[in-house]
Amino acid sequence: MKTQFRTDITVGDICQGFYYNTHEGKGLNGWGGKLVIQPEYQRNYIYANGKDDVAVVDSLLKKYPIGLIYFLKVGEDKYEVLDGQQRITSFGRFVTGQLDVLDTNGMPHKFDPALHGWLLKTPLTIYICEGEGDAPEAEIKAWFKTINIAGKPLNEQELLNATYSGPFVTVAKAVFSNSSNSNRQKWAAYVKGDLKRQAILAEALRWVSKGNVEEYLKDHRYDTEITELQTYFDSVIAWADSVFKERRDEMCGLDWGRLYETYHCRPYNPEQVQKRIDALFADADDGKIKQKANIFEYVLGGESDPKLLKVRIFSPEIARKVYKRQTDEAKVKGISNCPLCAVGHVANTTRLYDFTEMEADHVTAWSRGGDTSEANCQMLCRTHNRAKGNC
Ligand SMILES: [Zn+2]
Repeated sequence: MKTQFRTDITVGDICQGFYYNTHEGKGLNGWGGKLVIQPEYQRNYIYANGKDDVAVVDSLLKKYPIGLIYFLKVGEDKYEVLDGQQRITSFGRFVTGQLDVLDTNGMPHKFDPALHGWLLKTPLTIYICEGEGDAPEAEIKAWFKTINIAGKPLNEQELLNATYSGPFVTVAKAVFSNSSNSNRQKWAAYVKGDLKRQAILAEALRWVSKGNVEEYLKDHRYDTEITELQTYFDSVIAWADSVFKERRDEMCGLDWGRLYETYHCRPYNPEQVQKRIDALFADADDGKIKQKANIFEYVLGGESDPKLLKVRIFSPEIARKVYKRQTDEAKVKGISNCPLCAVGHVANTTRLYDFTEMEADHVTAWSRGGDTSEANCQMLCRTHNRAKGNC
C-alpha cells in the first residue's frame, strides 16, 4: 500500500462542488468533482443532529484540529473518503449555507464570507492511500478496519509526529520513544503512559513548550538536534529526584513541568521534605486527606495552601447530629441556628435554616490541626460557610 500525507488541501478545496442531499442525508461530492464523500460502504451521515455537526464547525472556527482524514485513491485523480465523511459533510453543509452554528451569544447564524472566509483557507491533514497488488481496494479497507475499529486510532502526539515529521521528531523519538533507553524506569516514576505511544515525548514537549507543543514542533521541525528539549526534561526530572528522596506511586503523572517552574528556585531540605511527606501520607491513610497526589505540591509550597489536599468532609451522620443540637439550642434561645447569623446585624439573627440550607464546617481549620470529628464540627448557613472559605 502506498500512502501520501497531505497538508496542502484546504476546507475550501474540499468544499468546491460540495453537494449535500437533504432528502437522503448524504454529502455526495466535493473537491471539484474528484472526491466521493459517501461511498457505498460508508455508514450514513449520523452527525446531522445539531450537535456533532455543529461541534465540527465550532472546532474549525476555534482553530482546533479536527483530526486525520483518510482518502482512498480509486483512479487517476479520483478519490473516496475512507474516514472523515462525517466531518467533511458537517463543514461542507456549513460552508454551503445548509447548517447554522451558534455564535457566542447563542444566536444561530449562517456562513458569512466576510466573517468566515478565512475558514476556507484552513488546511486539513489528509492521508491518501492507494492499494497495491491484485485487490488494492480490499487491502486498503482491511487496513482501515484494523486502524479504526479493532486497533487504536493515532493519538495526539502520534498525529503531531506525522504532521511535523522531520529531523527533529526523528531525533526526539530516538531518545524519548526508545524502549531500550536506560532512563526508562526513572522516567516511568514521573510520567504516565506508554513510551512507545509517545507518552514521554509528549510530556517532554509539553514541559519545554509550557503547553504550546504544536508551536514548538513547528518552530523546531527542521532542527537536527534536540538539546533544549532534552536538557529541560532532564532538569525537571533531576530536580524532582533531588527534592524527594523516595518515589511514591502518586508522583507519577503529576505536572512536573509546572511544579519545576514554580518551585525549583526555592531551597529544600530533602530530609525534612520526606518527613512531612510521610506524615501527610499517614494522615491520608487515616482518611483525613482526600487529594493524596497534591501532598507533594502542598509541601513544596511550604504547606500554605490546605485547599490542595481536599480535607475530608464530614459524614452526613455527624452533620445531622450537630444540626439537631444547634437547632434545638437555637429554638430555646430564640436565635438563628447558624451561629454566625445569630450574632450578626442582619435580618437573619433569628432565622432557622433547614438542614439542606446548611453546610458542615471545621471549627478549628484542618490546616491548624483541627480534625474531622463531631467535636470540631459546626453547621453554618451556606452564605457564612462560603464566606469563611477555608477548611
Ligand atoms: Zn449564617
